[in-house]
Amino acid sequence: MAEIIDGNAVASEIRDDLADAIETLADAGERPTLATVLMGEDPASETYVNMKQRDCEEVGIEGVHVDVDGDAPAADLFDTIEDLNADPEVNGYIVQAPVPDHVDYREVIGRIDPLKDVDGFHPENVGRLVAGDARFRPCTPHGVQKLLEAAGVDTEGADVTIVGRSDIVGKPLANLLIQKADDGNATVTVCHSRTEDLAAKTRAADVVIAAVGVPELIDGSMLSEGTVVIDVGVNRVDADTEKGYELVGDVAFESAKEQASAITPVPGGVGPMTRAMLLYNTVKAASLQTSVDVDLP
Ligand code: NDP
Repeated sequence: MAEIIDGNAVASEIRDDLADAIETLADAGERPTLATVLMGEDPASETYVNMKQRDCEEVGIEGVHVDVDGDAPAADLFDTIEDLNADPEVNGYIVQAPVPDHVDYREVIGRIDPLKDVDGFHPENVGRLVAGDARFRPCTPHGVQKLLEAAGVDTEGADVTIVGRSDIVGKPLANLLIQKADDGNATVTVCHSRTEDLAAKTRAADVVIAAVGVPELIDGSMLSEGTVVIDVGVNRVDADTEKGYELVGDVAFESAKEQASAITPVPGGVGPMTRAMLLYNTVKAASLQTSVDVDLP
């Protein structure tokens, strides 16, 4: 039977360690501040932003929220970004994706001060990550690395297959795992919708990381015995529940756990880690900007 990797427990440990770092900052008269920006009224985005604000409150980070009208011109969002860049009280901020269609998300990212870019999506931060000198690791990939570490998985020399090549998960994660570093040194295969014979790639891996957005795409028949499986996917599927749906991953959990040595559940795996690592980046931003040294987990 596979070990179930408990993302809630690992995230909770990281949050405890961050609380210590926040206390160190407080002793120096500094309080880390995270701003969230939401343009429009997408209900899922509202939920994410609310969760981020609640997380801040729980660990002692000051949370600020800015709403921008979804019908406003892009310039209004850019003005908000300029204000946040100039605001010395704000250490880091995120612009919740997706932005409305008339706004170019790449331009949004490019306008964020790289020193406040706690999502780690600004081209300067992407470049630093690729070069092996990351300032802010994007939250989900960083969370996956922390989960692997907590599960005692040594990535050095491991064959890792990542399914998905998005800018927020697959690409940065691949780049992190190939770094010459203790939590890297893996041999990484990155798969996507044009990959031929996906099952051959997943079966050949010691670690499979699924970030696809296709419910239960990867099942036990696509895994070799003893594989470590990290499921990033969060998909709503119709179900006979109170809400009318349930959340499932990109991995068919029941069959995969028969083959895996360790596996993350959905929910309760990568999701809580993504949230914890945003807090991590905010504390790191505050430390960098105030020159107050803190111990980061
Ligand atoms: P994207 O849609 O941006 O990327 C999906 C990737 O999967 C693409 O590279 C796509 O290939 C590839 N893909 C799609 N279908 C297949 C297929 N049949 N076989 C192989 N590859 C395929 O998704 P994200 O990276 O943003 O998110 C992926 C999943 O992770 C989603 O379920 C999302 O909800 C979840 N997520 C969860 C987070 C968390 O905190 N738990 C955080 C972020 C995302 P191509 O490039 O060719 O189109």
